[in-house]
Amino acid sequence: MEQLAARGIGVIEGEVTGIQVTGDRLIGVRLRSGQVIPRRALVITPRFEARHALLDGLGVTVAEHPLGIGHQVRTDATGLTTVAGVWVAGNAADVTAGVMQAAASGVTAAAAINADLTAEDTAAAVAARRAVPTADAAAPSAAFPPSPATAPWSSPRRPAASSPPTPGARPTSSS
Ligand SMILES: Cc1cc2nc3c(=O)[nH]c(=O)nc-3n(C[C@H](O)[C@H](O)[C@H](O)COP(=O)(O)OP(=O)(O)OC[C@H]3O[C@@H](n4cnc5c(N)ncnc54)[C@H](O)[C@@H]3O)c2cc1C
Repeated sequence: MEQLAARGIGVIEGEVTGIQVTGDRLIGVRLRSGQVIPRRALVITPRFEARHALLDGLGVTVAEHPLGIGHQVRTDATGLTTVAGVWVAGNAADVTAGVMQAAASGVTAAAAINADLTAEDTAAAVAARRAVPTADAAAPSAAFPPSPATAPWSSPRRPAASSPPTPGARPTSSS
């Protein structure tokens, strides 16, 4: 109220019950008291409601926008909802987003989804690797053979050295 007063904006308290229109033109706002406030234009605070019906069955959380202007799907910074594996982007996640923010959030969500799928594949590969017998697990896999630079001194047949040779260094003679 103080801020409005400081900007020279008057406040009339009362419940608006209708508008007064003459000749297809707004001429005033009618209050419950019967008083008509002359107006040529009327601005109403909109509510923004994300269309989340598609996601409701998955159990995502829908929350009030921090400014109290509507509801949107609750996400982290990448668009991940409160349900694992479900991301949203655009106005579903931020009802105030314009086209640029909506498109950018789609890119962010896509990158996060890609990372999540890669992590899942890797976790499955690790689990499969651990499931094989220990001797086999210690052996180099066909997918990741030892590199020529590291294979010689990682071999159990090679005598232990006080320090590993520098990769690429020439062997030295002890005599
Ligand atoms: C009046 C108005 C003016 C705007 N002016 C600007 C502007 O000047 N500049 C700007 O940057 N932004 C503007 N915006 C905002 C802009 O429209 C949004 O930021 C942008 O469209 C968000 O993109 P989106 O993909 O998240 O959502 P949308 O563009 O709304 O796309 C969502 C799509 O999903 C569909 N959908 C929803 N539920 C389902 C379902 N269950 N099954 C199948 N399809 C479904 C919808 O039909 C829709 O086609 C304006 C918005 C409005 C309303």
